[in-house]
Amino acid sequence: MDTARALSANLASLLRREHSALGAFLVALADFDRRRAWMTLGHASLFAYLHRELRLSKAAAQYRKVAAELIQEVPAVGDALGEGRLCLTSIVEAARVVTAQNWETVLPRFFGLSRREAMEVVAELQPHPAPPTRTIVSPVRTAPSEVAAGPAFARPALPLEVGPAGNCTPGSSSELTDREVNTSARTHRPAEVVPLTADLRRFHLTVSDRFLEKLQAARDALAHARPGATEEELLEAGLDLLLEEAAKRKGLVAKPRKTPRPAKADHIPAHVKRAVMERDGGRCQFRLPSGEICGSTHQLEFDHIEPVALGGASTVDNVRIACRRHNIISARRVFGDGWMDRYAPGKAALPAETG
Ligand SMILES: [Zn+2]
Repeated sequence: MDTARALSANLASLLRREHSALGAFLVALADFDRRRAWMTLGHASLFAYLHRELRLSKAAAQYRKVAAELIQEVPAVGDALGEGRLCLTSIVEAARVVTAQNWETVLPRFFGLSRREAMEVVAELQPHPAPPTRTIVSPVRTAPSEVAAGPAFARPALPLEVGPAGNCTPGSSSELTDREVNTSARTHRPAEVVPLTADLRRFHLTVSDRFLEKLQAARDALAHARPGATEEELLEAGLDLLLEEAAKRKGLVAKPRKTPRPAKADHIPAHVKRAVMERDGGRCQFRLPSGEICGSTHQLEFDHIEPVALGGASTVDNVRIACRRHNIISARRVFGDGWMDRYAPGKAALPAETG
């Protein structure tokens, strides 16, 4: 009994140190973000810094990014984390409703809560005006014949968007209920449609990894034209193309007339674009301090290494692929923050981080 008490006291002491270290880390991270030190180090965002430089998983990086941002607005959040009253996973929920104005009354409502419980508090403070529309991608349990070849348990389901997962309280480690985790055998069932309201339906569909890869590729390809498009919008756009093509085959739609467009000073010929895209493998080529390239496939642009304004040519050697954020960071390095803010305000602001 005495030994058990001593062991427990040791665990409690270690746990206090864990909370205290986490609080100190996040307060320092908030200061790091306030100074935009990640940008000085060549990273596209605080999230990218945490993931690429500190090697945190995407979920772990996302939690810490949200916490660091909230601490900048409400410093008391740092104390609550350091004292173990606030759990890192419930921060993401608290950040939806806690503000510099209301924190004294609202923040304590999240003390000691798991993420699931924190979601309930948010729902109470900020009810959904309409039924939630969401995309959940959950692995399908393997068929009995495949059990011998691999594990048969269902992995925890993850949202399609990269987001935090996990929970403070053991036993409720997944965000999703059992009902939402599809445990049926891998057979092709017809898509399931559940009515939600007069004109909203929930659509369950079993798809392959290949399908999800194509969906992500479509999202990346349309990041400029349709930023933040939902899965429904992407799929509907694809269906529109199919229907249009079918109508054309039947001669229902005339071919659109081509109108020549004047070339701009920074125009990059199609053959150069093709060669650059092939050489760079469709990935951002910005070099990080660690020596590796960024490699992002999101919001890609053709970046003149020697800028056009400084006489750079639109040749394969002088053009590379860069993500939008790194294109802007490169321009800021060449022209300076002052010039960019004054003469290119539209291009100067970093676009919202999408993780
Ligand atoms: Zn990049």
